[in-house]
Amino acid sequence: MTSPLPSLDALLRRPEADLLLARFGRSATVAALREELARRRGERAFNAPPAAIVDAAADTLARLFAPSQRPVFNLTGTVLHTNLGRAPLPPEAAEAAAAALRQPTTLEFDLTTGRRGERESHVRGLLQRLTGAAAATVVNNNAAAVLLILNTLAPGRDVPVSRGELIEIGGSFRMPDIMARAGARLVEIGTTNRTHPGDYRAALGPGTALLMRVHRANFAISGFTAAVPMGELAAIAHGAGLPCIEDLGSGSLVDLARWGLPHERMPQESLAEGADLVCFSGDKLLGGPQAGLIVGRAELIAQLDANPLKRALRLDKGRLAALETVLRLTLVPDRVAERLPALRLLTRPADEIRAAAARLLPAIEACLPSRDAAIAPCRSQIGSGALPVDLLPSWAVTLGGPGLEQAAAWLRGLPRPVIGRIGQGLLWLDCRCLEAADEASLLDQLSAAIA
Ligand SMILES: *Cc1c(COP(=O)(O)O)cnc(C)c1O
Repeated sequence: MTSPLPSLDALLRRPEADLLLARFGRSATVAALREELARRRGERAFNAPPAAIVDAAADTLARLFAPSQRPVFNLTGTVLHTNLGRAPLPPEAAEAAAAALRQPTTLEFDLTTGRRGERESHVRGLLQRLTGAAAATVVNNNAAAVLLILNTLAPGRDVPVSRGELIEIGGSFRMPDIMARAGARLVEIGTTNRTHPGDYRAALGPGTALLMRVHRANFAISGFTAAVPMGELAAIAHGAGLPCIEDLGSGSLVDLARWGLPHERMPQESLAEGADLVCFSGDKLLGGPQAGLIVGRAELIAQLDANPLKRALRLDKGRLAALETVLRLTLVPDRVAERLPALRLLTRPADEIRAAAARLLPAIEACLPSRDAAIAPCRSQIGSGALPVDLLPSWAVTLGGPGLEQAAAWLRGLPRPVIGRIGQGLLWLDCRCLEAADEASLLDQLSAAIA
């Protein structure tokens, strides 16, 4: 028995299909119509009007052709929000990345000699100048940096690490797992709260490759604690003829204390205290693109660059261009808090945030009238595992009432979705990351939503 569903050809001849053919092309339109026919055949839904079948295919095509990764308003109160893409780039860096992606560049080309150049050359000098390191290299992210360092310097060998530093950084990065994948043998030493110089000395043996310190980025251990300072750890390593490395996680290149933020350990400090290699992220406090930066002794960096894994972990030209721009902005510390959005948001004065929240309030009230909206003080977080115990005074628009999840879903359903945070029986829209241009476009979007 033949199906009473219309034929593909009959659907393609319908006037509604013309629009789809013009917009999405023949092959995608045919595929969507076929899928829709097959679905209805499978469900034995034979009596749908042909126009409804074309409509359903149009929905499928609209979803398929809509961008999946979309800009949002980050009103979560977490500035470097890993799920929302961490550090927002300064416009100069985004433009440099876009230009590099659109055109051929000198990525690995030396204009003086006309021969092959090195992709790291674009950032190496800047990193050396900013950190005082003798050499530097870059990879895909800081997890890749740790992997590359251990795979280069410690394959099949022992790496003693304090039990207080065997960290997990959100989701998939666990230090013991990365060490195993790098081929290094983790030797756990000390205890969760206290590790002493003697623990490292006792762990040293012929199989030891290096000593490593992992910055406790996303948690704090307080109370009865002891850790070995880098200076002492480096002395123990060097006494045994071994390198000493530090995974800093965030690693700010400028002293955050200058803006009243808690001091975050800087790569230059670690190197000055004796570390031979230090690695840190590009898109945390550095305020740049996703990248893993490694600075330190020239012969160790040369070994990293010679590891075939380096090729698998390398950075693309767009992110290299963005990183180069961000590092150059960082050369002028007096202006970096203005020019780097990540730092600007972290140092934003609370009264300015309060004013933004007050301007947002009436627009939110107009859109969600039954929600007793108000403005309230709150605390923002730096995010990305940085300094989790230090919260920044901020202001939010809050929404109350039952079914907060529905209000949150409504805000997420806007053309540029608004992402807030639910807590203490309220929906919080922390205005720290709502700067002037974004505020204007959010207010426009909200007034359009009720028009
Ligand atoms: C964040 C972090 C990492 C992972 O860095 P990514 O750039 O996210 O890959 C590794 N180690 C520490 C201590 C971190 O804080």
